[in-house]
Amino acid sequence: MLMQGKQGLVCGVANKRSIAHAIAKSLHREGAKLAFTYQGDRLKKNVEEIAGELGSKLLYNCDVTKDEDIKKLFEDVKKDLGHLDFLVHAIAFANKDDLEKNFSTTSREGFRVAHDISAYSLIGVSREAAPLMQAHGGSIVTLSYYGAEKVIPGYNVMGVAKASLEASVRYLAADLGQHNIRVNAVSAGPINTLAARGISGFTKILDMTPQKAPLKRNVEVDEVGDAALFMLSSLSRGITGEVLYVDCGYNIVGM
Ligand code: NAD
Repeated sequence: MLMQGKQGLVCGVANKRSIAHAIAKSLHREGAKLAFTYQGDRLKKNVEEIAGELGSKLLYNCDVTKDEDIKKLFEDVKKDLGHLDFLVHAIAFANKDDLEKNFSTTSREGFRVAHDISAYSLIGVSREAAPLMQAHGGSIVTLSYYGAEKVIPGYNVMGVAKASLEASVRYLAADLGQHNIRVNAVSAGPINTLAARGISGFTKILDMTPQKAPLKRNVEVDEVGDAALFMLSSLSRGITGEVLYVDCGYNIVGM
């Protein structure tokens, strides 16, 4: 029961395939009390059902493109929970157009949207979560992908947004460390989720990974859930500003 007596907020559950769902399951298994966000009424029912299965009735609507939603979210969390021990940020989006065409055709607006939702939102939620963590310290985890570091065909503007996200992890870690708040990223290998299906050629990435990865397979979503659990638990208390690869070793291989 690694997370006994700990409580936190999970942002980014869309359905049962979501990486955030796997992280929530790992946290629940270890005794954490959970609250969830959902993005609009379209996803409310899914998240309500998942939260219920994990013993939670704490649900908040939040579209991270809206500052007022983020502010209200943390006001409500403060009322309901008082403080937070951890925060999961598993949110990303880019326009489909920008994931299909050549990277050089990325529009100014497409670049803005991808960065706003996939990178800036980590800063927005961390800023509001920090005062709820300061008394006891806390741990924040976001999700990244290898496309932040190397060119992955079709990942395009999302790769650039993930590079910004990973740099934001380091700057947030440096800023919030004085309050004993840690900020880390888990860089997951490819997993068949709603967001992943928006990446053109995603099936090819899934098929090719086992050929190169040292473990000769794709990562399981539960393995990402357990790695995030480690980053959110006191087992990782000496780690901040890191990007932890959970990809069956894919990122270490050159050819
Ligand atoms: P998912 O579709 O299940 O989750 C994406 C979430 O982002 C959804 O819950 C969606 O509601 C949320 N979201 C998008 N725009 C939002 C907005 N404006 N406001 C609030 N929420 C918004 O897919 P997933 O693969 O579980 O993605 C979770 C994270 O994991 C993302 O950051 C993704 O880039 C990252 N990741 C995914 C993979 C993969 O292969 N699936 C690999 C590495 C990293």
